[in-house]
Amino acid sequence: MGGVGELYKAVFRNSPIAMALIRSDGRIVLSNPALAELARHVGIGELPGKLWDLLETEDRLSSLDRVATLGHLGERYSWLVRVSNGDRLVLWQLDVSVVSGSDEGRLLLVNARDVTLQKNTELRLKRAKETAERATRTKSAFLANMSHEIRTPIHTITGMTELLLETGLDEEQTEYASQVRFAAEVLLFLINDILDFSKIEAGKLSLETIDFDLERVAEEAVDMVSLQAHKKGLESVVWIAPGIPKSVTGDPGRLRQIIVNLFNNAVKFTPDGGEVVMTLRALRTHHQGSRVRFEVSDTGIGIPSENVGTLFKAFSQVDSSTTRKFGGTGLGLSICRGLVRLMGGDIGVQSTEGEGSTFWFEVPFGVIEGARTEAQICDGRRVLIIDDNERSRDTLHDYLERWGAASTVVSTGREGLKELRDAAAAGEPFDLALVDLELPGMDGWQFASEVNADHAINATALILMTPTGLAAGEAKMKRLMWFNGYASKPICRHDLEETIREALSGDLELAAVDEEADDEEGVEEITPVSVRLVVAEDHLVNQTLFRAILEKLGHEVILAANGREAVEAVERSDPDMVFMDVQMPEMNGYEATEMLRQRGFAGPIVAVTANAVKGERDKCIAAGMDDFLTKPFRREDLVPLLDKWLDAAASGAGGGIGEPTPTDPATDIPEDETSAFDFDAAVERFGGSDTVVRSVLSRFLEKCATIVSEFERYLEAGDFDALQREAHGLKGGARTLEAVRLGDAAALVEEAAKMKDESRCRHSLGALRHPVHEFTEIARRYETVE
Ligand code: ADP
Repeated sequence: MGGVGELYKAVFRNSPIAMALIRSDGRIVLSNPALAELARHVGIGELPGKLWDLLETEDRLSSLDRVATLGHLGERYSWLVRVSNGDRLVLWQLDVSVVSGSDEGRLLLVNARDVTLQKNTELRLKRAKETAERATRTKSAFLANMSHEIRTPIHTITGMTELLLETGLDEEQTEYASQVRFAAEVLLFLINDILDFSKIEAGKLSLETIDFDLERVAEEAVDMVSLQAHKKGLESVVWIAPGIPKSVTGDPGRLRQIIVNLFNNAVKFTPDGGEVVMTLRALRTHHQGSRVRFEVSDTGIGIPSENVGTLFKAFSQVDSSTTRKFGGTGLGLSICRGLVRLMGGDIGVQSTEGEGSTFWFEVPFGVIEGARTEAQICDGRRVLIIDDNERSRDTLHDYLERWGAASTVVSTGREGLKELRDAAAAGEPFDLALVDLELPGMDGWQFASEVNADHAINATALILMTPTGLAAGEAKMKRLMWFNGYASKPICRHDLEETIREALSGDLELAAVDEEADDEEGVEEITPVSVRLVVAEDHLVNQTLFRAILEKLGHEVILAANGREAVEAVERSDPDMVFMDVQMPEMNGYEATEMLRQRGFAGPIVAVTANAVKGERDKCIAAGMDDFLTKPFRREDLVPLLDKWLDAAASGAGGGIGEPTPTDPATDIPEDETSAFDFDAAVERFGGSDTVVRSVLSRFLEKCATIVSEFERYLEAGDFDALQREAHGLKGGARTLEAVRLGDAAALVEEAAKMKDESRCRHSLGALRHPVHEFTEIARRYETVE
């Protein structure tokens, strides 16, 4: 035993760690040479009787307090104290443990360490860091201000270039000005990134808190990039998991920015034939809050693991050669990270080089309205999905199941046809088929033409899915009568739901489809940017109204206060269209119109009348006017007239109520076959496929055979609505097939039916016979013989 005691003593004495055994009041019971040595460093020759006497007064008192509250045997405490000999002040760290328990006889073991240097270094580092951070913030604030300042002149450059480009430059000048505009747009894009980045760094970016539809914002954001994806030959898909709250609070603009950024990157770094998918899942939803996880995955080049760590840092790009190849600032992801963090969320990435990446972020939102309950729009109906992309198929399948459908998926048109035929043969036909336009082998078009031609299966409603951005093409397709609805890809859940609801709810195939086609038509057939209009009107208020509306639309307006002035103005300025008040002093509108027609003015003249009673209309038509505008009118009344007549004039179709005047130079050209039916133009319109046109023709001709008598039946029955709807369909179909005269004749029937004007209907139906006959004669030559 004695041996062990000696050993302990030896350890205590020789330890390099300064140690003392003390009583609670600080009295030193035992101390080792290392402690004396530590004291000597501070310039203290002799250790005092009480350890606390070494300390600065304040620390002495606080150490006494601490010791008084020390707990039980074996417990350890540490604190910092200042020790000084008057000249030098150092910092000691004391580690104190209770080695003997009883109150009076309590013994404490103290280890002391000089931590002056360490603490000073820490302090210096902390100060340096603070200074550096302050400097960065100042620089970022400067950058933010500068970017803001730089934006203003760039806006001037873009704006002025825009104006410059409208000043009738020659080709070379236009090219240069366009380059300037393009460069300014790129600059603006860069400066916006820098502005966002520096604002985030400077802590100056604040988020909005407004209510918005989460699903919509996410889908719209993807939609902004999907055209680019399609151009690159990538499939883009959005899948919204069940349980996403409908309405949330947050910053939709910034959310959109993050999604667009990630989606853009995914598109940029994914080669042709790949896919880019965004998914949305609600992780936790309480009644006021929900944390939503967004994932953007691609099948692109991926990111080497060693680069993943620095990816979200500013200006970081995977390597300089890729930087060259792909361009970019390297700021996008760091802005995303900044925004996500401001929103209180997290962002990250998983990636395998050569296989693809998944960028994810999770953000908490306040919930205004919880998850939608899925409407059972399909309610047990049988739906066939035809899509060659697996992710897309899975998404559609999931949505349809949620809407109560019994759905079957296949990946080619051939398989689709087989499914439809087998199901029909088994007496369980499909109610609906969703078909992708772009399929390998038989595409959506061919599939639809097969379905339509087969009586066993053509009762199945068809929805065509087309890539976003093919809207112009779509509009043309819509005038065909094959599909009951259209959905653009990437599929937007809400829109698809509506389309399916409509497709399943009725068989107003022709009308419904064409209604949509008409909407698109508005987009597609652009009214000339600026046209010249003569407005003959004696009333000041109406003059002002005309002027305000038309000039706002960018048109040039020449006012005339009476018929005589109107005639002069038309002859002087050769306008694209005339609005003619019928009652004016000196020379009224009828007389002025007659005079204009006699003198060879062939443009549209629209009568402006206070009461569009039948007698008045007949008088207008007799005088050579084309259409009517009833006073008082609003912008909504005027704009469709412009669209209608300027389009007609632009397409050379002219035709309306009044026959073209013989003096019209256009009529010197004999009415050629092509305005009855232009097969080549139709083929071009259908993307160069004459097989498609031929098969469309067959079906259309079938309809034409009975169309006039069908229309007459509607008229007999006084069903103007049906007549209008069917005439509208005929007009759309004919114009799509480039049967201009037939289309125009149908338009007249539609117009007459719309006005519920029986005699006009009769008249226009009579006028329809010839174009139908003429079209049928010519088109039969091209029809596919089956
Ligand atoms: P930028 O695209 O302007 O260079 P970002 O911050 O958006 O800047 O991206 C930084 C870098 O991260 C990119 O240059 C690229 O190297 C890499 N990266 C981002 N997204 C992807 C992705 N989906 N696949 C592969 N690499 C990516």
